[in-house]
Amino acid sequence: MAATFINGTKIADDIKQEVRAEVDQLRKNGVQPGLAVVLVGDDAASSAYVNMKARTCEQLGILSRKVVLPSAITTEDLLREVGKLNEDPLIDGILVQLPVPKQVNKHAVLEGVDPQKDVDGFHSGNLGSLLLGHETLVACTPLGVMELLRRSNVQMEGANAVVLGRSDDVGKPQAILLMHANATVTICHSKTRNLAEVCRQADILVAAIGRTALVTKDFVKPGAVVIDVGTNKVSSRAEVERLFGGDEARLSDFAKRGYVWAGDVDERSVREVASMMTPVPGGVGPMTIAVLMKNTIKAARRRRGI
Ligand code: NAP
Repeated sequence: MAATFINGTKIADDIKQEVRAEVDQLRKNGVQPGLAVVLVGDDAASSAYVNMKARTCEQLGILSRKVVLPSAITTEDLLREVGKLNEDPLIDGILVQLPVPKQVNKHAVLEGVDPQKDVDGFHSGNLGSLLLGHETLVACTPLGVMELLRRSNVQMEGANAVVLGRSDDVGKPQAILLMHANATVTICHSKTRNLAEVCRQADILVAAIGRTALVTKDFVKPGAVVIDVGTNKVSSRAEVERLFGGDEARLSDFAKRGYVWAGDVDERSVREVASMMTPVPGGVGPMTIAVLMKNTIKAARRRRGI
């Protein structure tokens, strides 16, 4: 039987409604949560992400501040701008849109964000708290995956979970969150031997590698839950046809835009064996923004002692 698709857009909408209700409550008590997004340079994709975040803030009644800085900025100048936001009493959450230009020390900038306002959960203090199992601000994408699993009633306790990818932003925090949910966790990366065989042990497989459709049905145990974090741009029609066959919607998207998004999971073959899986787009992607909003409310409450 074909896998059921987990509707990330619907679950993200549910979360945004919950956030909206919380914001209304806070505003009745004279508090308006505020999120600042820092964009360095004019990369079209980063700019689109930032605008989407700002729009979502506005929809939910969260104050939104967009800080656009020149692409030639130095680390010191960027840190000064972040410092101003750290001091700004109206701002509860700060997000520096990644990637930053090469001359900027990304690590120094992420460490420069006040941990109390670090809604991306990338500060080493917050990552340390996560490791220790303390209440903290956690990276939006892995937290979004946990929300997807919980709200889809996926049993995590005692399950074998395999996280494919070990990045600081996704793979590592994902593995820790699954471990805290009492799954037995294996982390795989580019040096893992017998990758497909290791992945086939998983009851829950989370793919976050940035390699289009690398996870085929040979990687998936029958009945497993497969979460696809990958967001890969496919800009060749032949590749779209190879991945999605005659899928009219994708082909028409391709004709309109010249590209489509595809995950790390080969949707067509994995669908034959998994019990549940997330689509790309419409799976993990929308959850990341919804959780960012949730994190902003959390930061506002904690910082303001509510
Ligand atoms: P990243 O920093 O490039 O990390 C990729 C990880 O995958 C690394 O640990 C790497 O191993 C591993 N890897 C790469 N090729 C592999 C292979 N052939 N076999 C096994 N492991 C392999 O990427 P990331 O930031 O974690 O992002 C991963 C994907 O998720 C990307 O497509 C990104 O666009 C997407 N993403 C989506 C969202 C969303 O909201 N939906 C958010 C964040 C990221 P090594 O460590 O050994 O190099």
